[in-house]
Amino acid sequence: ERARLARLRHTPAITLDGQRIELHANIELPGDAVAALAAGATGVGLFRSEFLFMNREGELPSEDEQFEAYKAAVEAMRGMPVTIRTVDVGADKPLDRMSVNELRHEHVLNPAMGLRAIRWSLAEPSMFRQQLRAIFRASAFGHVKLLVPMVAHLSEIRQVQEAVKRVKQQLDDSKQAYGEIQLGVMIEVPAAALMLPQLLKHVDFISIGTNDLIQYTLAIDRADEAVAHLYDPWHPAVLQLLSSSIAQARAMGKEVSVCGEMAGDAGFTDLLLSMGLNCFSMHPSQIPSVKQRVLRADAHRLATALPRILESEDPAKTAAEAFAPHQRLH
Ligand code: PEP
Ligand code: MG
Repeated sequence: ERARLARLRHTPAITLDGQRIELHANIELPGDAVAALAAGATGVGLFRSEFLFMNREGELPSEDEQFEAYKAAVEAMRGMPVTIRTVDVGADKPLDRMSVNELRHEHVLNPAMGLRAIRWSLAEPSMFRQQLRAIFRASAFGHVKLLVPMVAHLSEIRQVQEAVKRVKQQLDDSKQAYGEIQLGVMIEVPAAALMLPQLLKHVDFISIGTNDLIQYTLAIDRADEAVAHLYDPWHPAVLQLLSSSIAQARAMGKEVSVCGEMAGDAGFTDLLLSMGLNCFSMHPSQIPSVKQRVLRADAHRLATALPRILESEDPAKTAAEAFAPHQRLH
């Protein structure tokens, strides 16, 4: 079994019909890059940078501390892409109280719809620029991509671009090196998925965060046990937003990945392949099982079932029927 897994690690993820699929890792701290490489990840699709900011008893990481952390991840990945997401604090990932008080943000009733993620960063412009500087400085050591969480407004992208411009100017002025960085946004709010034609003009790539996209589409708090049974990735509205987002990004020649839990669950691999997805990002431990699914899949054939699944009143059942016979080719 171990030998088989080791072999799998070095096997590229290519479907039966010859489509190359990138299997990237989600990491929380730079040390997780070791597990990502061991699992055969071909990049980091989501570095959840907020983990550098959490459980700190008040004090937040300095620019240099952040720079060292990003650089460590970038160097560990040896030239493979490392997608660093700017802090996604708030809601299910709170800063501890001292940091929050320090930053003057009060406790709110509905944090999932409050000042979280990019909203928080734009409300703390000097902290945001610190983080951007740390990320840009790390880009001198490898392949860095910049990912912005929970975007819902074009104005947020514009403000990020302005902050990026200012940070690059500062780095130029102090003669600090940085590389080319592509800018991407997470698609986690239905509004963003519904205005992709406009959004895509301003970004280089998108990454779909299904955990939040499901939460906000179905109005189900992802952390609330009482409604957990209604949290349904197979809901037709979720599938519609997912498949149209992937299709529109591809049509505009922009990279698209999925980095929510769906990407790492082998039960959704065929579905996502049928939608034309070619980049999945997940916890490193999930890479082998998803890769096995990819190796047995005929993406072209899976795609022919997609219209039926999207129209179905029971998409999970329709998909199971449509995909099952194609699984066993050997
Ligand atoms: C998501 O929402 O799907 C996602 C990947 O981000 P997080 O789980 O960190 O909110
Ligand atoms: Mg999210």
